[in-house]
Amino acid sequence: MLASKIFVPFIKDNPSEAEVVSHQLLLRAGMIRKVASGIYNWLPLGFKTLKLVEEIVREEISKTGAHEIFMPMVQPKDLWVDSKRWDKFGPELLRFKDRHERDFCLGPTHEEIITDLIRNNLNSYKELPLTLFQIQTKFRDEIRPRYGIMRGREFLMKDAYSFHIDSESLNITYLSMREAYKSIFNRLGLEYKIVKADSGAIGGEISEEFHVLADSGEDTLAFSDESEIAINAELLISAGEDINSLSGKSFPNSNEIIRLAKGIEVGHIFQLGDVYSTAMNATVIDEKGDRQILQMGCYGIGVSRIVAAAIEQNHDDKGIIWPKNIAPIQISILPIFKEQNDNALLFAKELYLKLNQQGLRVMLDDRQERFGKKITESELIGCPYAVVIGKNYTDNQTVEVISRTADKSEIKASEVETFLTRAFQ
Ligand code: ATP
Ligand code: MG
Repeated sequence: MLASKIFVPFIKDNPSEAEVVSHQLLLRAGMIRKVASGIYNWLPLGFKTLKLVEEIVREEISKTGAHEIFMPMVQPKDLWVDSKRWDKFGPELLRFKDRHERDFCLGPTHEEIITDLIRNNLNSYKELPLTLFQIQTKFRDEIRPRYGIMRGREFLMKDAYSFHIDSESLNITYLSMREAYKSIFNRLGLEYKIVKADSGAIGGEISEEFHVLADSGEDTLAFSDESEIAINAELLISAGEDINSLSGKSFPNSNEIIRLAKGIEVGHIFQLGDVYSTAMNATVIDEKGDRQILQMGCYGIGVSRIVAAAIEQNHDDKGIIWPKNIAPIQISILPIFKEQNDNALLFAKELYLKLNQQGLRVMLDDRQERFGKKITESELIGCPYAVVIGKNYTDNQTVEVISRTADKSEIKASEVETFLTRAFQ
């Protein structure tokens, strides 16, 4: 992409409405814009990262054998009455009527729709286990939408649902989803913990949350250095005790030392059991020919929240530092030139084409701007690498490669393509 052509409306000063760094940087770097409270436009660079996250999630969930579907955002009241949640859900459920005065809601989640789909279309235990998923817009009329896309009202979620004849089968799928989630967060390049959760409003028994570690997280997690598992630190303190006093103590019944960190919930996996299938009478015929209530699991990932969480974990005072797999632009090429036939610009164009051909996400800053502006913007939008092509190119046939995380190096122009291709292998 060419810097002269792309739509990236930068903001110079910190927007006053943004309380957390991800919200500030997404606005400043021209990646999102607010439409209404908790409702956002995704602009080209932000949307690119959203799509990259979505694709990693899709690939890893598909690898478990789950099939992708697409369910409607608008859901009829009767299914919610069926599951007994029409009254239970409260004002987070945005309800409205159509022209025939029929009641609907905007889907905050899809247990009702999918359980109805399965009870009408799946008959025999032989078709089980089955896992279906979608990546789709949810609407929750949150009481206090905040932190930009972190807690929006409209947001993108991956939600998967599994169906089983018994709890053993459910447990197997649950564990393979758990593994898929680990692969997802590893590929995203994010530091995370798995947190034993109480299953809250959705009900059911076994459930765990995935949290990305970041100082702005809403939950304080307690874990030991070696373990990927954490627990909510609240569970370890007695009334009146300061949570931070836990740090350095040891866990009850073990000699492992407690470390504390804040976490942002980015995923949630549940063994729902038969809560929905009982309420909605979803059954299949078992081996003996008898009707049996289905066992269910559900598995959510906050795809759009991950974009914010990634920034909360990876930024500095210059801007975003994207992990390389979700950087909307991996390399920015910054030629410094005076005329269109400047050698530096010609080489920059050549390098741009070559790196594009390698499948890398590259931006050529073809604007006739000073270096300071170009590098500042490249750093703000979080490009892992910037290549500066200027006087050193003209004089010595070398370019400067600046890594977003620290070091600079002077590299022969003839070797820069190989250098950068390797950096992204
Ligand atoms: P929270 O406790 O943050 O309100 P939740 O437990 O209600 O979230 P789930 O029903 O578990 O959310 O939804 C699955 C995932 O969707 C969450 O783990 C989170 O990453 C994401 N998510 C939930 N609510 C929002 C929101 N308002 N904005 C963005 N992402 C959200
Ligand atoms: Mg949750």
